[in-house]
Amino acid sequence: MTAPDDATALFEQLTGHAPDGVWSAPGRVNLIGEHTDYNDGFVLPFAIPHRTYAAVGMRDDGRIRVASTFADDAPVEVALDELAGLFPTPTGATPAVAEWAAYPLGVAWALQLADPSTDPGAAGCGVDIAIASDVPVGAGLSSSAAIEGATASALNDLWNAGLDRTALARIGRRAENEAVGAPTGIMDQMASMLGEPDAAIFLDCRTLDTNLVPVGIAEARLAILIMDTRVQHSHATGGYRERRASCERGAAIMGVPSLRDVSMGDLARAEELMDDVTFRRVRHIVTENQRVLDTVKTLRESGARAIGDLLVASHASMRDDFEISVAELDTAVEAALSAGAIGARMTGGGFGGAAIALIEQAAVQTVSDAVTAAFAASGFTPPHLFTVTPSAGARRDA
Ligand code: ADP
Ligand code: MG
Repeated sequence: MTAPDDATALFEQLTGHAPDGVWSAPGRVNLIGEHTDYNDGFVLPFAIPHRTYAAVGMRDDGRIRVASTFADDAPVEVALDELAGLFPTPTGATPAVAEWAAYPLGVAWALQLADPSTDPGAAGCGVDIAIASDVPVGAGLSSSAAIEGATASALNDLWNAGLDRTALARIGRRAENEAVGAPTGIMDQMASMLGEPDAAIFLDCRTLDTNLVPVGIAEARLAILIMDTRVQHSHATGGYRERRASCERGAAIMGVPSLRDVSMGDLARAEELMDDVTFRRVRHIVTENQRVLDTVKTLRESGARAIGDLLVASHASMRDDFEISVAELDTAVEAALSAGAIGARMTGGGFGGAAIALIEQAAVQTVSDAVTAAFAASGFTPPHLFTVTPSAGARRDA
């Protein structure tokens, strides 16, 4: 069965009747611009073909129930007017519900706050939500934004909230930040909501202005290979939070609201003002912002084949300055480049997850074999390798 059928089957098993509709939202991969989103900077993600589906039906008792094929535990059910007592989750605390359920329930909570016309006590507003996905979880492909986008799109329609895609992206982010407790930026949700076939989304995370940038992968007979290391990461813990704090510290030392306001020309002064680790974190963000701008310009002027060096430089910056790569990611990138990839870099928040390689279509097999062989030689778990093309954003499917 496919994920949309799985979602519908789970819904029917849960409720004994058919859903009112099925909504979906994709995962995303970031072409370039890592950890720049929460620094008010630039990113260039695109939506991938893998999607999360939510089969949803209204109920008349003012309660919300969520179930997922991903979670073995029982469905989670609460009254809609209890959500305000569950969220926001205090910083560092475990959510009051199973973590996976905090994503869809957090979206419902954030949507109620954003749309006061939704009366949390109104009996007719209750919903059952059954979720199934083919987005790899914890692989840096944003299964989290996909579950948020599918849920937000469904509730926006069923509750007649009338919010636009950017507003729904903000709701997803709020759920992730305040209900789940993962301090992530807005990039993933914007990519999942606004994706378009054959285009990357150039997003200014300060203004949330977006521009579609044609990538022309297929016309150029190129492919983007995802190399999922299968090293799981969690953004709710550890290194991600720590990097965010370093960026805030760097911005405070520079006397600016965020690292977006530090230019390449300011780096010499930054180096004098701060300790080495903080400086290297700052340098990654400042140079990465510039690489995003350069990539957009290069794609428009010269096409995808010309962006390889920018991808490689981005990886080196994440490995050496931001220190968010792991041996598996470095191995994937190096093996792909040695086998002839035009460019390669880790993508997503780091500490595991996936890397991408831009390669000739004709080289998919050669590069894949080389990466698999390099993982075997290092004794790593075999990687999960597949190609992706820029795809459509959130939508109603049925
Ligand atoms: P990523 O977004 O890179 O996949 P995250 O740690 O941000 O990784 O999000 C993964 C978490 O999102 C999972 O651990 C789970 O809690 C939740 N999640 C993702 N997809 C689903 C799903 N289909 N059903 C239930 N929860 C999901
Ligand atoms: Mg995520």
